[in-house]
Amino acid sequence: MVQFPYDSKVLAADIKQLADQYHTIKCSSIGYSVLGKPLYELKIGEGLQSIHWNGSFHANEWMTTALLMSVVRSYAKALEEDEYFGSVKARDLYANTTLSLVPMVNPDGVDLFMHGLDASHANHNSLVMMNGANKTFASWKANIRGVDLNNQFPANWEIEKERKPTAPSFRDYPGEQPLTEPEAIAMAELTKRCNFDRVLAFHSQGEVIYWGYQGLEPERSFHMVEAFYKGSGYEPVRTIDSYAGYKDWFIQDYQKEGYTIEVGKGINPLPLSTFPYHYGRVKEICALSLSTPLR
Ligand SMILES: [Zn+2]
Repeated sequence: MVQFPYDSKVLAADIKQLADQYHTIKCSSIGYSVLGKPLYELKIGEGLQSIHWNGSFHANEWMTTALLMSVVRSYAKALEEDEYFGSVKARDLYANTTLSLVPMVNPDGVDLFMHGLDASHANHNSLVMMNGANKTFASWKANIRGVDLNNQFPANWEIEKERKPTAPSFRDYPGEQPLTEPEAIAMAELTKRCNFDRVLAFHSQGEVIYWGYQGLEPERSFHMVEAFYKGSGYEPVRTIDSYAGYKDWFIQDYQKEGYTIEVGKGINPLPLSTFPYHYGRVKEICALSLSTPLR
């Protein structure tokens, strides 16, 4: 079972072990965080359908990283043993899809959440200020500069700029401009480069799936999200009053399928004891995202 704290070091070791054990997994770095930590991308598959998953845009939603790594391990194992992954033979998924996974978009934030000020040589006074009245970093969502990475994308960013915090903060501050932060830039560049057909951004919490943006989402998003609902019980929600997120920008610029998956119910961070419960649902959603044809 997953170890805690699952910080950026544990992730790096986990990725290395996985890539050593399974030759089907390719690993590279798509850029670096503010503090110079690699932003890892794992790839599996040789197919034409390009599917992307990511986790931990938000620091205190770290469990999404551990969940996605467990899912990918299970997929690689199914490939090796020529088993099913979900309802489809893993080798068929491998032949038909190319999976891209960025398990931890915000490693500096995750490490700050887990280790407090010890995690960073950055200005401790400013981190304490950005953290508001909080005694710990348990509510921290932003990157190490106090920018909310999921408010950084050029999709009605100005609306969030107008109503969100005007200075760096543990959450919600959208930055001075869209795409000022290296982690958000790396995700945008990767997405432009890779021509993804379907993207799943994992957050917590709520057990809901946001699947629309300004009516620009393709019709098949509706059918996909219904299948996710049947597989996981996570309620589809077409739109909310929220902009400048990664999936908002993806739907806006590409008019392809983009989903924000809110894992679990309760208060972030989700308790470690609930991991196995979430794992079953997340795995189901992930398997469906690979096995459901795009057209
Ligand atoms: Zn989130």
